[in-house]
Amino acid sequence: LSLPHGRVQNICCIGAGYVGGPTCAVIANKNPHLKVTVVDLSQPRIDAWNSPHLPIYEPGLQEIVELARDGSADRKPNLFFSTDVDAAIAEADLVFVSVNTPTKVSGTGAGFASELSYVESAIRKIAEVATTDKIVVEKSTVPVRTADSMREILSAIGKPGVRFEVLSNPEFLAEGTAIPDLLTPDRILIGSLVNESGLSAASALANVYAGWVPRDRIITMNLWSSELAKLAANALLAQRISSINALSAICEATGADVEEIAFACGTDTRIGSKMLRASVGFGGSCFKKDILSLTYISETLHLPEVAAYWRSVVDINEYQKDRFTNRIITCLYNSLTNKKIAVLGFSYKKDTGDTRESAAISIIKNLAGERAKISIYDPKVEERQIWQDLQGYGNVSSVAGAGSVKDFVTVENNVYDACADAHAIIILTEWDEFSNKAIAKPTAAQANKPTNGHASTNPRMDWSRVADTMKRPMFVFDGRNVVDARALEELGFRVECIGKPGTN
Ligand code: NAD
Repeated sequence: LSLPHGRVQNICCIGAGYVGGPTCAVIANKNPHLKVTVVDLSQPRIDAWNSPHLPIYEPGLQEIVELARDGSADRKPNLFFSTDVDAAIAEADLVFVSVNTPTKVSGTGAGFASELSYVESAIRKIAEVATTDKIVVEKSTVPVRTADSMREILSAIGKPGVRFEVLSNPEFLAEGTAIPDLLTPDRILIGSLVNESGLSAASALANVYAGWVPRDRIITMNLWSSELAKLAANALLAQRISSINALSAICEATGADVEEIAFACGTDTRIGSKMLRASVGFGGSCFKKDILSLTYISETLHLPEVAAYWRSVVDINEYQKDRFTNRIITCLYNSLTNKKIAVLGFSYKKDTGDTRESAAISIIKNLAGERAKISIYDPKVEERQIWQDLQGYGNVSSVAGAGSVKDFVTVENNVYDACADAHAIIILTEWDEFSNKAIAKPTAAQANKPTNGHASTNPRMDWSRVADTMKRPMFVFDGRNVVDARALEELGFRVECIGKPGTN
């Protein structure tokens, strides 16, 4: 495979989403000599990337995009957003495929597979358009051996004499910390075929990352290991959350405290302390979909016990959300009918406006089913997104028995209106402004990690002001363990936290 200048000079990224946008913004920033063009089929999304109002919220993203997109006195613009997919592919020597790979219900009844149609159409497009050799990079999370199908399509459709090399380069950024994750990644993973052309393509991609990532953090391995490593990493992360959440249920029934359990276990260096925060359940576009994909792969490989093992991680997550709702109903005297309930937080975690698979969606649906009056406040999620997510839950109205979701839900733009006259506050996202805990000093490691901007800038809510406006008795159900329960109890709240004995 020959690159016109012997190295990568022009990059195209297909898919201007949560991964494609921030990743290319960092690549362009750190490699001013490269031209980076991010393309998407969605005109509104591209328009937003070209405007002052980016389509996604990530701390630090705006500055990085503006610098590379608009240029400055000492650098030319080198980051472009466009819907002209063909032109961007044609001039690139390396093409990232960063399109969505959501879950689909498999037609064979074997479970929930990855929907690969977006990946396939991107690959077909590359094959049709290319007149020069290209390195094609799987950035999307895909089932192991997807590169096989890509290579087959590229060689069947590609023009004679045009060669392609397929690499796997999964993305490990977490939403909310995407920019620091991209700037100082734990590792960059590049998978290739272990032959001369595969290894040389891997080295060309490694050189792009070497613009800012230390060489010892750029790991190369065989293509299939790299593809599976991404699913494995997400499965292991989600499994830790389900493990601590499963323990939280035992804590609530026994008087043990899940934060003490997490501390006791996390100080064992073999276990480690990360991803052991009990919560109302994980959300986001990746964990559930990637575990379902792993489950499906296991089933198609005739490994039913392995499939059942991974499926239980998702099952516990669903159970945790239902358990939390049941606790609310029980504490509120088994009736939510016409009681106002304030839901604080709608995104699936703090510092992102992303609501995909957010626990809030299914919990609000459950509460609406009990005929509660729900008022929602989230500092970053736009109101139209909330309506879209709740309408998408078509059965809200049917569960509730009458009316549309708007009869049960209001969206407020501040915490005080959301909580006024409420019987209960439910915290579903760990936004800093909901916490009343003493602010911990950053650890040395956190202090050294560049953040490029501040995360949540809103002031903390005034809990005593809120208390003055609520119905008695007043409850807080903390689905993220962000409150100091004792301090709230002094204000007269009854507080129920995940994995801790309640006030009742
Ligand atoms: P996204 O839905 O935000 O963005 C995908 C974009 O691809 C959309 O804007 C869509 O319009 C565009 N697209 C789809 N088909 C296209 C085509 N044929 N041509 C041009 N554009 C097309 O998705 P995302 O969150 O950025 O995720 C992308 C991939 O990265 C997924 O496979 C996901 O699993 C993986 N991933 C996501 C995260 C995350 O935190 N969101 C982290 C790591 C990996």
